[in-house]
Amino acid sequence: MIKKAAFYTLGCKVNQYETEAVIDIFLDSGYQIVDFSEEADVYIVNSCTVTNEAARKTRQIARRAKRRSPGSLVAIVGCYTQAFPDEVSEIEEIDLVMGSNNKAKILDKTEEMLAGRDVDTKVKEYKQLRDYEDLNLKRLSNTTRANVKIEDGCNQFCSYCIIPYARGPVRSRKKEDIVAEVKKLTKQGVKEIILTGTHLGAYGSEKGNSQALTELMQILTEIDELQRVRLSSIEGTEIDSGMMDLISKEDIFCPHLHLPLQSGSDKILKAMKRPYSVKEFKETVAELRKRIPNLAITTDVIVGFPGETETTFKETLDLVKEIGFAKVHVFPYSAREGTPAAEMEQLNGNLVTEYSKELRVVNEALMLDYQKKFLGEKKEVLIEEVRDHQTNLLTGYTDNYLKVLVDGPDKLKNELVEVKLAETFDSYHILGKIID
Ligand code: SF4
Repeated sequence: MIKKAAFYTLGCKVNQYETEAVIDIFLDSGYQIVDFSEEADVYIVNSCTVTNEAARKTRQIARRAKRRSPGSLVAIVGCYTQAFPDEVSEIEEIDLVMGSNNKAKILDKTEEMLAGRDVDTKVKEYKQLRDYEDLNLKRLSNTTRANVKIEDGCNQFCSYCIIPYARGPVRSRKKEDIVAEVKKLTKQGVKEIILTGTHLGAYGSEKGNSQALTELMQILTEIDELQRVRLSSIEGTEIDSGMMDLISKEDIFCPHLHLPLQSGSDKILKAMKRPYSVKEFKETVAELRKRIPNLAITTDVIVGFPGETETTFKETLDLVKEIGFAKVHVFPYSAREGTPAAEMEQLNGNLVTEYSKELRVVNEALMLDYQKKFLGEKKEVLIEEVRDHQTNLLTGYTDNYLKVLVDGPDKLKNELVEVKLAETFDSYHILGKIID
């Protein structure tokens, strides 16, 4: 009888990439992949630990799976188990616990367990994670855009972040493996590649090569069929002059950078252990804008970090407006157990909510301002495979990260089409007209 496996992914693009690669391994071995809400023989939860809430959700999802199919094998793998293996092992409904490496072995361990054999499930300490584990994407559920993982781990230890304990030190994927995967994906019709990593800009740094990401980007320009490349998120301090040149001169690189700011106050940045000051961040943005016209700069901001005051929050609001981000992802700070910031004096939760609301209002206005700059212009839009469920229009992104709604037939899905940006729909969408 064909065995059924179901997967659930929490967290970031790196986790999504890894789940897709593990699904390929299960498919190759004859498993049928079913929705997580259906009955299955094996449930795999690729967990996240970035907040206490993500960990709680992981536990809840795993428990529900066991209740649905009591005879099934439920496995939790990934960041949560890596950072808190003992906590996860205590959950009665979980049969198999694996950390954030060895994901290629999930199938083997599952099979051994189903066959009634003892399985070594000891999670290695994060400092012992030494090699980049190569997983490969073979098929994709969505061919419009594909995440390609190039790096794992982080050595930065920002004071609020649990990731270095969950992913271990920086390990980079071999350039030739990345190029082979990108070629394979473009042959399958993928138009846009998003280079992802736990700490993308640290690519190659464990070998002392600070130019490694720029070198990789240069190599990608030689792949003829590749239409678009986006970087998932990068520290401003890690963008060198060569990278700026490539983004400005080579059409395949989207003029869009996600630079996590986190705070507009030097006092808070220092407490967060971020590697730049407000002045340095502003200088990077100014240089980028000089060299890359129409660059979209998006960001993350953590609101209500320990020590935040009216003054530091106002500094953040002012800086966010001054820079004029195309979009701000607002993260209300919540203490992550196991991090230094969790030991600091915490703000009142209501204040954190209030600050977050205020910044979200500013963000909506910034997004509208950003859209307005491009009204009347012609832009290429990569049409997504799924229609917008509210309007039933086709959706897609421009290279500079405007989300566009257009009327058109299904055959345009996964195509790059020329569109005139006509009017604002709301702060998240712009209405466009396809140019015949
Ligand atoms: S750079 Fe900082 S925020 Fe990003 S993963 Fe590393 S520790 Fe976390």
